[in-house]
Amino acid sequence: MKIGIIGTGYVGLPTGVGLAELGNQVICIDREPSKIEALKSGKLTIFEDGLEELFIKNVKSGNLKFTTSMKEGVCDADIVIIAVGTPPHPVTKEADMKYIHAAATELAEHLTGYTVIATKSTVPVGTGDDVEALISKKNPQADFDVVSLPEFLREGFAIHDFFNPDRIVVGTNTDKAAKLIKELYRPFDGKTNILFVKRRSSETIKYASNAFLAIKIHYINEMADFCEKAGADIREVAKGMGLDTRIGPRFLNPGPGYGGSCFPKDTMAMSYMARQNGIDMTLINSAIEGNRQRKKRMAQRILNSIKDIPNPKIAILGLAFKNGTDDCRESPAMEIIAELLNCNAEITAYDPKANDTAKKILGDKIKYSSDMYSAIENADVLAILTEWDEFKALDLTLASQKMKHLNIIDCRNLLDAHQAKLAGFNYSCIGQ
Ligand code: NAD
Repeated sequence: MKIGIIGTGYVGLPTGVGLAELGNQVICIDREPSKIEALKSGKLTIFEDGLEELFIKNVKSGNLKFTTSMKEGVCDADIVIIAVGTPPHPVTKEADMKYIHAAATELAEHLTGYTVIATKSTVPVGTGDDVEALISKKNPQADFDVVSLPEFLREGFAIHDFFNPDRIVVGTNTDKAAKLIKELYRPFDGKTNILFVKRRSSETIKYASNAFLAIKIHYINEMADFCEKAGADIREVAKGMGLDTRIGPRFLNPGPGYGGSCFPKDTMAMSYMARQNGIDMTLINSAIEGNRQRKKRMAQRILNSIKDIPNPKIAILGLAFKNGTDDCRESPAMEIIAELLNCNAEITAYDPKANDTAKKILGDKIKYSSDMYSAIENADVLAILTEWDEFKALDLTLASQKMKHLNIIDCRNLLDAHQAKLAGFNYSCIGQ
């Protein structure tokens, strides 16, 4: 099949690579010339485990191409996938649809023959109708259907998730489009659930799922706060809860708050959509506010540990919003660091993959190290903010020799409390 993908970011690129690997002819389109130039010259623009190998293979075979030209990507396509960003509107916090609307308008005039337009971006209910109307207005002759194809990949596991999806949800109001999408996903037949639903249901499934997961994280974070006061251990509590198949063990790791490019914006967008429909989603609203406060409290915890030290130096391990990715959008680390900078702290940070992406957000407000041990040199406190495996191997004896004051705030529960105390640290973690 010929597929055009509009938007070559954290979703568009792994999707393009995956679909090319399945034997489709894929053209990834992006309006950012620097991105397309980099990809054309063989350089990946994001970090994802397993992406590089498949990217090189499929570029070589000719199955995967890149362009800035909407015409080139869309004109012969059987399916055009929209994977542009839907960031929060700066004022209302609803999903900002300007990129979706622009993509729909730009692609319309290049459609030839019957084409399915599949929206992979996370979009508010009713977007399918809007995209349909925009295309018809721009090109009344166009023969097309619009389907909702929400993306459930996890950053850091995007390639794994592409080939091993928990489920594929397709929102379509026509049999003709359903038939083409069935053909696209034929390689997954019998291997996963492929759920065909109404377009509006599909759009809702994505928000309902992300909001649920955000609430689950917020819940375990609050439970961790309780454990700290009540003398319980959240690790044991989470394990005991997770063995209940109705609850399940995943998303029960307490931490500094949820972040990333999806949960914060999708909870806010869902809350906005609910209000527009006269519904007050109290659980979601409470998670949004609780999560915001949590990051402030984490920053305060770090500052409290050094409150008597003049001109303190803070070492941060972890900048990405989670392990396995270089993505720092809405990362708890970004927000915690912003709080620390407000208090004039001197910060040196290290992330195995995200130093460069963090620099685009924080600039020179902090220093960046190329390894853990140079980051903690002379530090008065070490804060662990991302759950990279590498940090688990921190040599505590060496760390105690390098740091000026022995304070660790482990917001990811990566280190062993007993070992940290043996090495002389004041060690604080979550929910224990
Ligand atoms: P991203 O910012 O990484 O990528 C979007 C890309 O679209 C950018 O490269 C941008 O230049 C390009 N673009 C914007 N308008 C364009 C246009 N008119 N023509 C061509 N290119 C255009 O965003 P992302 O993280 O890939 O997210 C994309 C969508 O997928 C969002 O709606 C997001 O909510 C959703 N989603 C993301 C994830 C995730 O883990 N990142 C998971 C599931 C769903």
